[in-house]
Amino acid sequence: MSRETLVLGAGMVGTSIAYHLARRGRNVTLVDRRAPGQETSFGNAGIIQREAVKPYPFPRDLPTLLRVLPNRQIDIRYRPKGMLAAAGPLFSYWRHSTPARHAQAIVPYASLITRCTEEHAVMIEAAGAEALVSKRGWLDGFRRQDSMDAQIASAEEIARQYGVTYEVLDAAALKALEPSLAGALVGALHWTNSWTVSDPGGLVKAYADAFESLGGQVRCAEAQRIEQGPNGWRLHTADGELEAEELVLAAGPWSNRWLAELGYQVPLFPKRGYHMHYAIRDGASLNHPIRDVDAGYLLAPMRAGIRLTTGAELTTLEASPRHGQLDAAERVARKLLPLGERRDATPWIGNRPCLPDMLPVIGAAPRHRGLWLAFGHGHQGFTLGPVTGRLLAELMSGEPPTVPMAPFRIERFSS
Ligand SMILES: Cc1cc2nc3c(=O)[nH]c(=O)nc-3n(C[C@H](O)[C@H](O)[C@H](O)COP(=O)(O)OP(=O)(O)OC[C@H]3O[C@@H](n4cnc5c(N)ncnc54)[C@H](O)[C@@H]3O)c2cc1C
Repeated sequence: MSRETLVLGAGMVGTSIAYHLARRGRNVTLVDRRAPGQETSFGNAGIIQREAVKPYPFPRDLPTLLRVLPNRQIDIRYRPKGMLAAAGPLFSYWRHSTPARHAQAIVPYASLITRCTEEHAVMIEAAGAEALVSKRGWLDGFRRQDSMDAQIASAEEIARQYGVTYEVLDAAALKALEPSLAGALVGALHWTNSWTVSDPGGLVKAYADAFESLGGQVRCAEAQRIEQGPNGWRLHTADGELEAEELVLAAGPWSNRWLAELGYQVPLFPKRGYHMHYAIRDGASLNHPIRDVDAGYLLAPMRAGIRLTTGAELTTLEASPRHGQLDAAERVARKLLPLGERRDATPWIGNRPCLPDMLPVIGAAPRHRGLWLAFGHGHQGFTLGPVTGRLLAELMSGEPPTVPMAPFRIERFSS
């Protein structure tokens, strides 16, 4: 008889896990309070970041810290309440971000990232979602030659070690690729083996449809409590109870809530981001997503318009929105590209689920048989969903995992 399994959280991570489990013949129900792909996995920049082999460290150099301190920057902002609430995890994040410890995180992180496009390819094909995906890469654009030179040095290294491909574009080559950009940029790096998606929420929905076509069920219900019973797990929802032998917790930035009740103290913290869509004026166009590196925001051509995504705001999950960071980014972006009117009634808000050592948790809950965990993918959860799906399904099925999984175990937080 096929094994009953519940997956809580239908973002990119949970949906990919559900798909890989269903492919292995399990009887899977994917539970979310919303339709698949409507939260963090909806509003991101939509980049499948094959180049992101180095996870995002906490800035430690004095000039950056002094720049961020007045709290008026576009790339990073903070709220005192959020800093206090996450003081322990943020201090730990800072400690893990020394050059030596960051270098240690790169090896396991890259073991996931280097598989991102091949694992998305499997699911894109199963979902028939090719129309949503472009393989033309994306751009890091620079206002300052020194920051471009530093990025080129890093690109050379990751190309050698991890097979990242890129091209260096001077101002003229950038103009040829993106004729509608104003001349504020000295050049760009074109990450050529990364992929981009014109509707990130739509891609998760397509993956969820592929899961359903394998016999999986999607259930819309607000989870309230999880409970271990003699035969497995019970999920109490606003619409009744669901039971299964095994339960996967993949609730992105909300995953902590249930873990704390089970006695696992996980230092998960949110890095908030906002987005807004814009029309584009004067017959202009944008052919690739472009990050305005020295200003600290990103523009991506989406089905819904040009999407501007902001950098990080350190605040609590529940904090009310503050639009100053988005407004400031918009003022700079309007000088780079002829943006038209805003297309959304209010800015979208999402929270990157972050862990201090910059690695996700993927694996078994050691003290609870039949409970499995997959969250904390930070800045790259959209990229890493399908590879996480494969790896967790391999672990749950007793197959040898494709990559060493020890760095991703939750036990690393208990010592
Ligand atoms: C501005 C911005 C830009 C980004 N750009 C990129 C990018 O270009 N590339 C990239 O790889 N990553 C990017 N990211 C990061 C990426 O979006 C996240 O890492 C990823 O979406 C996390 O996926 P997830 O499935 O873990 O979480 P989510 O997508 O948040 O899914 C968790 C699910 O759990 C559900 N849930 C929570 N609580 C309950 C409950 N009580 N009952 C039922 N369901 C519940 C939620 O409804 C949600 O659907 C970006 C993030 C932001 C904010």
